[in-house]
Amino acid sequence: MHVLLIEDDALVASGIQAGLTAYDFVVDHVSNIAEAKSALEAVASDVVILDRGLPDGDGLVLLEAWRNAGIDVPVLVLTARDGVSDRVAGLRGGADDYLVKPFDLDELVARLQALLRRAAGRSRTLIEHGALCLDPLAREVTVAGCPVVLSRRELVLLETFLQSPRSVLSPDQLKDSLYGMSDEVESNALNVHIHHLRRKLGPGVIETVRGLGYRLGQPSAVVLPSGERPQ
Ligand code: CA
Repeated sequence: MHVLLIEDDALVASGIQAGLTAYDFVVDHVSNIAEAKSALEAVASDVVILDRGLPDGDGLVLLEAWRNAGIDVPVLVLTARDGVSDRVAGLRGGADDYLVKPFDLDELVARLQALLRRAAGRSRTLIEHGALCLDPLAREVTVAGCPVVLSRRELVLLETFLQSPRSVLSPDQLKDSLYGMSDEVESNALNVHIHHLRRKLGPGVIETVRGLGYRLGQPSAVVLPSGERPQ
């Protein structure tokens, strides 16, 4: 999942970045409103972490501008202020959640996961698709209860498909969820990851939609470790 982190405090930002990377989030960090605007235009972010006190203005002004423009990416607002009126202003301004500094990194991760879950219309933490089950917090995948070992990128890619189970995702969307703006990406990297997911989970787990991209396959396309087909 791709996170856009808008935070001008370098120390706080590097802590968040390191923490989220450990949970397989792809993090792009910018430190002011101007950079945030161009970053959101350049890359499809799944969730945004927005500091309020930024060098070129209040993060809430940016948030209101996004909401007025119909940009509905989930936004978690960070702030050093802890007054009730500030929290209310953030939520009224279009924030989906609010966290007061200093905060616990595990709480931030749990809240981001909850935002992503709500955005995908799910109420449960585990993401299930037929026999396939992904635990976003533990970073584990099982098929019919048996663990399947995936690389970090494979797991992020599978998670992206599971978050939008009925959508056709373009190669650019998929690359945005896999890589940060500063990552070097080999031209065939996406194909390689899709190939590995099909090999490990069954050839039909990801369908190619000619000319458009890819989508999650039918649950029965997932191969059970024993070789049986799931019900
Ligand atoms: Ca700040």
